Amino acid sequence: MDYIKKMFDNKEKTEIEKLGEFGLIDYLTKENTLKQKGSLKGVGDDAAVLDFTGKKVLVSTDMLLEGIHFDLAYTPLKHLGYKAIQVNLSDIYAMNGTPTQVTVSIGMSSKFPLEAIEELYQGIYLACEKYNVDLVGGDTTSSKQGLVISVTVLGEANEQDIVYRNGAEEGDLICVSGDLGGAYTGLQLLEREKLVYLENPNIQPDLEGKDYIVERQLKPEARRDIVELLKEIGVKPTAMIDISDGLASELLHICKQSNKGCNLYEDKIPLDPMTFETAREFNLDPTICALSGGEDYELLFTVKQADYDKIKFKLDITIIGYITEPAAGCNLVTKAGNVHALKAQGWNAFGG
Ligand code: ADP
Ligand code: MG
Repeated sequence: MDYIKKMFDNKEKTEIEKLGEFGLIDYLTKENTLKQKGSLKGVGDDAAVLDFTGKKVLVSTDMLLEGIHFDLAYTPLKHLGYKAIQVNLSDIYAMNGTPTQVTVSIGMSSKFPLEAIEELYQGIYLACEKYNVDLVGGDTTSSKQGLVISVTVLGEANEQDIVYRNGAEEGDLICVSGDLGGAYTGLQLLEREKLVYLENPNIQPDLEGKDYIVERQLKPEARRDIVELLKEIGVKPTAMIDISDGLASELLHICKQSNKGCNLYEDKIPLDPMTFETAREFNLDPTICALSGGEDYELLFTVKQADYDKIKFKLDITIIGYITEPAAGCNLVTKAGNVHALKAQGWNAFGG
């Protein structure tokens, strides 16, 4: 716990001012290599030069602010760098595209030594390498307070392969990858241990046996594998979105943009046993953690009923409902068989 304090206490510190802005950029990018053949020029000029030969270009940006999106008391900077890239890659996969390049902009206060920023970049490079994307630029500034990271991701897709949020049709099956609610319950755990630590810094954090959900929060993985799997079995989703804000909110986006309704079945929502147990420990309804928790970075998509046979035995894909006519509304069918209107903020939505 209190990771950042420990880091400052125990490790060597180099003030960034000594390097200057250009020295810092050079230092952070000295081992940066370009793997994509479309990356003609990366860091080092006024702009990167990219070639998307005939493909459509996908662009998405996400900004992370200290104190709003992350807490350095329990977030290792390497994980933070890794996550900042993953959340952006996830948006490109949600379009059924392939991410190819990223730019990374950081604003930091003087409390961050070079070693801290270096660690952040270790996570950034790790994610880039694993997902075969190039770091081709960014911006570096100082901030009055705290750390800001903004990542822009570029990706490519053939026009006919792109999947939008607005393509769901009546009768389509609603599918989700992986399991939900883990990142949120992991966050509850980290927040609790932070409070315990603040009360008594001698008590060690108790995260024993909770690795899975802690990792879901600190080190999410964008679902490239699901996009590849769907391609392999010849299924093109009719609509798709990644789950950053919770299942309910994302499904409502698909329904609204497709001008359709839906029936979502509570008993079908995939939950990991550790998510279930931990939610119960915190007196939370596990279903609500999945519906409203967010940050799971799974893919939510709809497929034609004709594709049912192709996906029914895929272990990491769960069918959780179906698309209806718009007049039927967006509904959650509970385990008890009751029907409730699906709400984006589900905490008190169905009398829980
Ligand atoms: P300019 O003044 O033209 O904006 P900069 O000095 O900010 O140029 O950046 C010089 C080069 O370094 C550019 O290629 C830019 O994309 C890259 N760069 C700047 N900051 C970062 C960063 N934090 N991470 C990666 N590349 C960066
Ligand atoms: Mg600049």
